[in-house]
Amino acid sequence: MEDEHDSQVVTNRQIILKHYVKGFPKESDMILTTAAVELKVPAGAGEAILLKNLYLSCDPYMRHRMGILHDSYTTSFTPGQPIIGLGVGRVVDSSHPGFEKGELVWGMTQWEDYTLIQSDVESLFKITNKAVPLSYYTGILGMPGATAYFGFHEVCSPKEGETVFVSAAAGAVGQLVGQFAKSVGCYVIGSAGSEEKVDLLKNKLGFDDAFNYKKEPDLNIALKRYFPKGIDIYFENVGGNMLEAVLLNMRCYGRIAACGMISQYNLEEPEGVRHLFEIVAKRIRMEGFVVFDYYPKYNKFSDTIISLLDQGKISYVEDIVEGLENAPSALIKLFHGANFGKQVVVVARE
Ligand code: NAP
Repeated sequence: MEDEHDSQVVTNRQIILKHYVKGFPKESDMILTTAAVELKVPAGAGEAILLKNLYLSCDPYMRHRMGILHDSYTTSFTPGQPIIGLGVGRVVDSSHPGFEKGELVWGMTQWEDYTLIQSDVESLFKITNKAVPLSYYTGILGMPGATAYFGFHEVCSPKEGETVFVSAAAGAVGQLVGQFAKSVGCYVIGSAGSEEKVDLLKNKLGFDDAFNYKKEPDLNIALKRYFPKGIDIYFENVGGNMLEAVLLNMRCYGRIAACGMISQYNLEEPEGVRHLFEIVAKRIRMEGFVVFDYYPKYNKFSDTIISLLDQGKISYVEDIVEGLENAPSALIKLFHGANFGKQVVVVARE
């Protein structure tokens, strides 16, 4: 722990949650402040590490944490404290026996330049492969990639020749689900909210077809057009009227992986869902999942993805925003469909 930084104190910029959020989040719900930080783990901090944050991940679930939560799979952020989120960082100092200065990690950190991590240090994943861009550990090699991989392969039980529909298909998770589905010989259609995203799905990411759901007056009719024989697998990212339309178009013994329902996250009252009897009549299995249940299998997943990347067998699209100060506006983009691929914020590059 002894080094030249021992007594160095620097400015720590932080993005603070101002108050609990209602409705769509706004930039003004978060503020940029500064504090001083000493570049070493304080005496008495126990087994801790000080992380220099490099890349931050903007993820839809963060909206839940900006509000008041009861009995949820996660907890609320604390107003007045930095936003908590996934990111990639470099260990600046460590009093933890498992981590050394200079190591790169990804996992839960805070929206600031430097974060002292005292609890759950062991839950950070070490980054040992230096050949892939570090930002990929916020996406394809991080939480969203694992969501797509395990959600598709383990929850959807896919079989060659089946039809697959993915909503929010041009996002961090969706773009990968479509490619995993193609890799096992499925027929895949994606929906997204702009012509540019539809073009990306069809011409870069290898989806068989795609449509702009915002241009479809009737989603049921649209799905009948794209799936004349019905949908075997629906990878659910949005909920709301898309889920209702999908239920009307599922095939018998179909599977729905309930990954997320972003259309509901900013509503003060969630919408109801019609056509649930389709689940009975068609013997549909609809199963929710949360990615962290699959983290024990992370190493096998990351080896698989790194091999696919090495062989050029998978494409990946990121939307990179520069600067911690731009993190609030980057997060808000997710809820307006303004991100093009995985939304990442660069705090520092090394
Ligand atoms: P993302 O797709 O990169 O970004 C969110 C996208 O959702 C937006 O770009 C937008 O795309 C779409 N969207 C926003 N508001 C919408 C609305 N009202 N109706 C329909 N679409 C809307 O995000 P992601 O990280 O890949 O996450 C996708 C989903 O997976 C989310 O529901 C998220 O909560 C969920 N998720 C779940 C887990 C898990 O463990 N279960 C883990 C990670 C993510 P368009 O242009 O297409 O509208």
